[in-house]
Amino acid sequence: MTDYYAVLGVSRDASPEEIKKAYRKLARELHPDVAGEESAERFKEVGHAYEVLSNAQKRQQYDMGVDPSAPGGGGGAGFGFQDIFETFFGGGAQPQGPVPRTRRGQDALIEVVVDLSDAVFGARHDVTVETAVVCDACSGSCCAPGTSPQTCEVCHGRGSVQRVARSLLGQVMTTAPCGACQGHGTVLPSPCPQCAGQGRVRSRRTIKVDIPAGVDTGNRVRLSGQGEVGPGGGPAGDLFLEIRVRKHETFTRRGDHLHCTISLPMTAAALGTVVELETFDGSQELDVPAGTQPDEVLTLKGLGVGKLHSTQRGDLNVHVEIEVAESLTDEQADLLREFAKLRGEERSAARVHSTSQGVFSRLREKLSGR
Ligand SMILES: [Zn+2]
Ligand SMILES: [Zn+2]
Repeated sequence: MTDYYAVLGVSRDASPEEIKKAYRKLARELHPDVAGEESAERFKEVGHAYEVLSNAQKRQQYDMGVDPSAPGGGGGAGFGFQDIFETFFGGGAQPQGPVPRTRRGQDALIEVVVDLSDAVFGARHDVTVETAVVCDACSGSCCAPGTSPQTCEVCHGRGSVQRVARSLLGQVMTTAPCGACQGHGTVLPSPCPQCAGQGRVRSRRTIKVDIPAGVDTGNRVRLSGQGEVGPGGGPAGDLFLEIRVRKHETFTRRGDHLHCTISLPMTAAALGTVVELETFDGSQELDVPAGTQPDEVLTLKGLGVGKLHSTQRGDLNVHVEIEVAESLTDEQADLLREFAKLRGEERSAARVHSTSQGVFSRLREKLSGR
């Protein structure tokens, strides 16, 4: 392992200031533009030594005998498997040129809770989102006004540095991202104070969003380019709204159909009636035909949930429960007995069902979607 302290000509207990000073002096003297190509190798070595010793964490690792800049995580021996791999197979994993400062931002996801009526008709919602946006002080350039990024002195804008590492197989040339510029190839002489050189800041804003008819819990609405702005003011990712539809106290939803339940006195079910029903489309008259049976389903066509990407709507299905009269007065009981007599039902008129009738067949009818 190279003695980085010796490369920079400082003592092992040199302060960060002394290291910086020594590096600057050497970098000036050895710069290939000044000293010619012969010093290029030594110039790189100096840059690499500074890269390690100027970073407190890397310096500590190095002091413990680990070369922290060795590819593959610096596994103690001073070389990694990757070095050997690269030597034999052409180094497909090597960094290719500088890493752009500007990158695309990530997608963002927020939950939006809507009412069932919004799912029925679609609705426009105000949604408050907090994402990274382009820094207005530097317009994403990351630099303080009047300044601009400058070519990195250590890697000359390549974003990576090469060095010779010793391994079991002899000397191996390795390439690693330049630590002085984090691989960008440029450094910011004066980072924008508002965004700390990130080119983006966090911001809360309210946007208007059209929730389409037919959305259901778990659906996602995508708003392209409304997500997080990337590092260096890079293009924004997408914003996904994950929809949750609130429970409604009257109506439940199955697919595009709405369901509700009404209770009718047995007399109304037997004689037929008209029920006023409050729906999402206002008050509707529901015809209950004479002889309506318990669990029968009456359908109001087209009053259900709008279908996604369509102008059609599902139906509103009204399930009928029938209330048997209780606590009869003497007069009512007499009338019912009279009624039973007229129907020939005064003795036990119970029938035992065959297996194709009764509760189970009704259940089957319900399950088959009536
Ligand atoms: Zn800025
Ligand atoms: Zn660099």
